[in-house]
Amino acid sequence: MKENDPIPTLAPTWGADVFPLLSWFKQERLERANVMVVGCGALGNEVLKNLALFGVGHLVVVDFDTIEPSNLTRSILFSQADAEARRPKATVTAKRIREINPSIQVLPLECDICHDIGLGLLRQMDVVVGCVDNRWARYYLNRLCMRVGVPWVDGGIDGLEGTARVFMPGKNCYACNLGPEALKDMSYRLSCSASIQRNEQANRVPTTPVIASIIGAVEAQEAIKLLHPDELASGELTSLCGKMFYYEGQHLAARIAGFTGYDEECPVHEQWEPIEKADLTTDSPIGEALDNLAGQLGCNDVEIILRDHCFVDYLTIRKDDREVTVMLPDYAIAQFLEEEPTLRHLPFHAFYQHEIKAIDSHFPYRDLTLSQIGIPPWSILHVRTENGNRYVELADERNYSTFLFQSRQV
Ligand SMILES: [Zn+2]
Repeated sequence: MKENDPIPTLAPTWGADVFPLLSWFKQERLERANVMVVGCGALGNEVLKNLALFGVGHLVVVDFDTIEPSNLTRSILFSQADAEARRPKATVTAKRIREINPSIQVLPLECDICHDIGLGLLRQMDVVVGCVDNRWARYYLNRLCMRVGVPWVDGGIDGLEGTARVFMPGKNCYACNLGPEALKDMSYRLSCSASIQRNEQANRVPTTPVIASIIGAVEAQEAIKLLHPDELASGELTSLCGKMFYYEGQHLAARIAGFTGYDEECPVHEQWEPIEKADLTTDSPIGEALDNLAGQLGCNDVEIILRDHCFVDYLTIRKDDREVTVMLPDYAIAQFLEEEPTLRHLPFHAFYQHEIKAIDSHFPYRDLTLSQIGIPPWSILHVRTENGNRYVELADERNYSTFLFQSRQV
């Protein structure tokens, strides 16, 4: 560039010269949107690339995994250097989509959707896009979205086949469409004694870049539609809600099937409302949290109900002829054992002494913090009182709110 050349600037609004040619397209709506994408594998790469190109203003990117060489054949946002350095998928993805569209904000979270994401963050989303590869993660994501009334898009790929679906709280539900065997398996996993088996590993499937492109594109398109509720209501756009898009590439077939199961008795549909705010963070000690909640809610006795995990205490084991006492959330047990090779030979039931699902005034470790019993930042606590259930949101200790567009009531 010559010295006197004008410095190139970005267009004042991303895509303003193109997208408004679509009759239904609302640029401002996309710029203000908060969208969470769960999973940064082959599908997540494609979804995020498309959402960034469309100019979705605020993207939260969730993945706990690191990049491996095998990811490179179908992940446009990852490089050889990322794989060699085993860089975190969420962070690398965030960096690359910011390079694609510098006008958007991206928040990477190196987290597991099953126990690291507070509902307070999830409820700020307009749409969640699931790019996960196993039934357990879908079941979980569905349950979390139901609690806070956020629609979500699901995609799945296998070889040259793929499916995409849309779930809207109050209209349809992933769990209601599972068969009896799958539901039985889920409820077995939800029981505490089976917690160790919750981390379902997806079967290795021959994923291809073309099916990731096709299904990822459909997921992104459905997410964009969900950001246009008026146009969906008027019929100018039609959502995949209640249907399943199926694509098969080997013989080239595509179809849309009904996917409408909705059982009014399904326990997953429970919506947490109204949501109250408390001046507590995950650094608050249990004793202080219980006193604060009792005062704020005007109740004598409050119990914090652990809905998605157990706190395991007195996990007493013998190591080198010494007694070791461990206290931790049940989902951390597998990792704990992984890091203690001398314990691997012991059966899991040898570790449990107590599993605690309700934290009340009898809880013996009042100095432990909410974080230490497994509650993630910006959670919504399910608090049981003598007057019924209350739902209390923790303070924004990570300053997530500075990143998000505050389009929803907080
Ligand atoms: Zn259901």
